[in-house]
Amino acid sequence: NIIVLGASYSGLSVAHNFLDDLEPRLSALGASNYRLVLVSPSTHFFFNIAAPQALVSPSLIPHHENRPRSPKGRRSSTLSDNLFVPIQPAFAKHPFSRFTFMHGQATEIDHKTRRVTVQVDRTNPVQQIPYHALIIATGSSSHSPLLSLHDTTLKALREFYHKLKNATHIAIVGGGLSGVEIAAQIAQYFDQKRVERSKRRITLISGGTQVLKKLEPSIGKQAEKRLKTLGVHVLPNVRAQTLTRKTRSVECDLDNGQVLSADEVILATGVCPNTRFLPIQVCDKSNYVITDETLRVHGIGDRSYAIGDCASYSDNHILDVYDAVPVLVNNLYKDLLEYQLENSGLESHLKLRNTLEDLRDERYRRQRSTDTGMLLAPMTKYGGVGSVFGWHVPSLMVYLLKGRKYRIDSV
Ligand SMILES: Cc1cc2nc3c(=O)[nH]c(=O)nc-3n(C[C@H](O)[C@H](O)[C@H](O)COP(=O)(O)OP(=O)(O)OC[C@H]3O[C@@H](n4cnc5c(N)ncnc54)[C@H](O)[C@@H]3O)c2cc1C
Repeated sequence: NIIVLGASYSGLSVAHNFLDDLEPRLSALGASNYRLVLVSPSTHFFFNIAAPQALVSPSLIPHHENRPRSPKGRRSSTLSDNLFVPIQPAFAKHPFSRFTFMHGQATEIDHKTRRVTVQVDRTNPVQQIPYHALIIATGSSSHSPLLSLHDTTLKALREFYHKLKNATHIAIVGGGLSGVEIAAQIAQYFDQKRVERSKRRITLISGGTQVLKKLEPSIGKQAEKRLKTLGVHVLPNVRAQTLTRKTRSVECDLDNGQVLSADEVILATGVCPNTRFLPIQVCDKSNYVITDETLRVHGIGDRSYAIGDCASYSDNHILDVYDAVPVLVNNLYKDLLEYQLENSGLESHLKLRNTLEDLRDERYRRQRSTDTGMLLAPMTKYGGVGSVFGWHVPSLMVYLLKGRKYRIDSV
């Protein structure tokens, strides 16, 4: 069993790469009999990049549990496809002996017996699955279920729309890309619904002196100007401390002693890694899995790897996933062949040895990079702010690259 934990950008990329590319190469060398087991608490992939847009676009979530997306390959011209994409149809061509989807959550790893404990659901006993190789791709979770996949995401989104229809005050905590984008989207929503500005309030509790502090200061200034034009009140240098849910409102205690009351408060305060099920010695002090440049994880046995948001090398951007996939997959290939060579019969021995010899000088390592890829916050119908590979991009480019369709048609 090659076990992949997590079925989002990282886990799905590794799984498809393994089945479509590695497995045929291994089979050709007589090293077959691998089964990929994909473990995921959700049967659907959630395209969280468009989550801020989904907050104001009910068409982006399924109205019925199984509303199908449009057929693969069709390029929709509107934001009509929802953000929940079923995982299993894309693996339908692989037989059960090669691919198994497990709807469950890893709760423990025993590296001595090389078994993962999976909680399939709360009523059934846990299952223990032995592994030959383990890929940890369990990502991170936002504090709000509206922004990353939690058990309650769909319900939370539906409830949020319901509230938004009659809301007069929405507060957003966090002045990063998501917070800025959400505040702007909600302002546009109110404008489209022709809610008078004097009758509604949007507050962005930014937590610092300026919004978007991870980007160039000029981009943050530009974002604040746009927020002001949209009627968003930015509260700088104030942090939220506690939230209290009342029957019809949410109260937020601020660290300046004030209490803010709103119809809804959205926490856009970053993410935490999903690594609680791992032994603490493999994680750093912020609970991210420590990998070396080859993406191997040390201390939990051979053929263990981590990729994406859960790993310490990542800055929690998509680029850190896609950069890493070829590195991980090639190192997995090498490690599987090495094991096979040590344990193979004479017949395939020579072929394996030659292949490994060819790979000997290949160093599959992730280059440390300062590239952040595309960090874009659509803010108005045809524009926004952001940077691409560190370069400040014009407003219209933000619309063309992200705001127009949120790349939903390509998911
Ligand atoms: C609102 C929002 C907007 C974003 N916008 C951008 C953007 O514009 N550009 C950009 O580069 N990045 C963006 N990001 C960051 C990007 O989404 C992440 O880098 C990306 O999701 C990382 O993918 P991943 O597969 O590593 O982890 P995740 O996407 O976090 O997926 C991890 C998966 O593992 C599953 N899992 C968790 N625990 C377990 C367990 N115990 N067992 C099994 N499975 C488990 C989870 O359910 C989930 O499906 C955004 C993030 C958010 C929240």
